[in-house]
Amino acid sequence: MLSTFNVKEKYDVIIIGAGPGGSRLGQLCAQKGLDVLMIEKRPEIGAPKRCAEGLSEVQLKQLGFTGKERFVVNTIYNGSILYGPSGQSIYLPAKNEIGYILERKLFDKELAGNAARAGAKIITNAEVIGMIKENDFVCGVELEYYGEKHKIKSDIVVSAEGVEAKFAREVLNIAVPKPNEVMSGYQYELENITMEDSKRLELYAGRDICPGGYIWIFPKGEKRANVGLGIFSNCEKSAKYYLDQWIGTKNNLRCGSVLEENGGAIPVGGLLRKMTANGFLAVGDAARQVHPMHGGGMHEATYAAKIAADVINEAKISNDYSAKFLDRYNKTWWHERGNELLKVNRIKEIFHKMSDDDLNTIMDILKDRDIDNIIKGNLTEISKIFLKIPKLIKFSKYLI
Ligand SMILES: Cc1cc2nc3c(=O)[nH]c(=O)nc-3n(C[C@H](O)[C@H](O)[C@H](O)COP(=O)(O)OP(=O)(O)OC[C@H]3O[C@@H](n4cnc5c(N)ncnc54)[C@H](O)[C@@H]3O)c2cc1C
Repeated sequence: MLSTFNVKEKYDVIIIGAGPGGSRLGQLCAQKGLDVLMIEKRPEIGAPKRCAEGLSEVQLKQLGFTGKERFVVNTIYNGSILYGPSGQSIYLPAKNEIGYILERKLFDKELAGNAARAGAKIITNAEVIGMIKENDFVCGVELEYYGEKHKIKSDIVVSAEGVEAKFAREVLNIAVPKPNEVMSGYQYELENITMEDSKRLELYAGRDICPGGYIWIFPKGEKRANVGLGIFSNCEKSAKYYLDQWIGTKNNLRCGSVLEENGGAIPVGGLLRKMTANGFLAVGDAARQVHPMHGGGMHEATYAAKIAADVINEAKISNDYSAKFLDRYNKTWWHERGNELLKVNRIKEIFHKMSDDDLNTIMDILKDRDIDNIIKGNLTEISKIFLKIPKLIKFSKYLI
């Protein structure tokens, strides 16, 4: 197949993985005139999904879409509702921003299609199994396709491998994430269930039902939804166990039928200062570019892809793919996203230290506040809350 589809021996850019990060990068690099090869190990791009499929309107529009595409299966006009451990709720209105629930299998293919139409070459069922290195520079990959091994060279290799991040970890010399830096997720796509409002997200928090994370119901239609959760990766029991326990208590969900189930890890912390090496760069989940509080990674991956495409193009013009040159990718990403996500991560870690009783207290207070401030990592706002409530003062030391 490699010769059938005119796969060449050398490219400007090789991208490992055709998820949102890889495909967006492939599209932007190809639009700049770079010669791009994207290599995807799965036989079908976007399948199986490992995602609750939520994306905000602004984020979707940043990708050049309108919200009317076939892959948009539901529009969330009515914001979200968060339930605390004792059942109290905070309603988070949509304000000016609606949300979308996507069909990832179609969305990922559309992004990959955009890359292909821009001129990138994509192959599937081909797994990258090694890096080619010369003089301390990554300069290509070895891949396996139907039992045959092939070597393809490039000026730069990008890891958009997702959370597995085998080569990102190997080349960047980073350890596997700590248990609090990665969540275990599990999810069912359920049909024939009833929901409070099919135009609103439902979220549930509590250490008993979901240690370290939250449960979500993301409606895909009147009676269909992604119902899932993320928990600390070092819990004694599995994510599926917690999800099954919880669904078992909900009559409106347990009557449903399962259309699909999937699990996956979500990197939620452990942000990397250095995501580049000689001839190498990482984007998306592979670089742990995920919102640490809610675990959304599609926007972060595609946002980082834009920064990466600009830097790779500059590297091509300067004919310099050294780690020193590529460092501008690290700097720009940290300036535009990393510093904010780091603050969000600190708030998330404080929530992790809270008992259900503390969570109940803070939810009572947050009811009347703009929770966006917290999701965006506003430490001053959260510090004000802690200092006012004697029971929560103990947490303010973590903000210093
Ligand atoms: C349960 C769950 C729910 C989630 N819900 C949401 C949500 O609602 N909204 C949101 O924004 N995010 C969500 N996320 C996170 C989101 O799915 C990821 O952040 C996003 O897919 C990251 O995109 P990516 O391109 O970096 O990686 P991925 O989408 O993981 O793509 C990586 C690709 O690389 C391929 N690959 C890996 N290794 C190789 C190799 N050696 N050779 C060739 N190909 C390879 C993989 O097959 C894969 O296709 C969720 C995640 C989970 C697990």
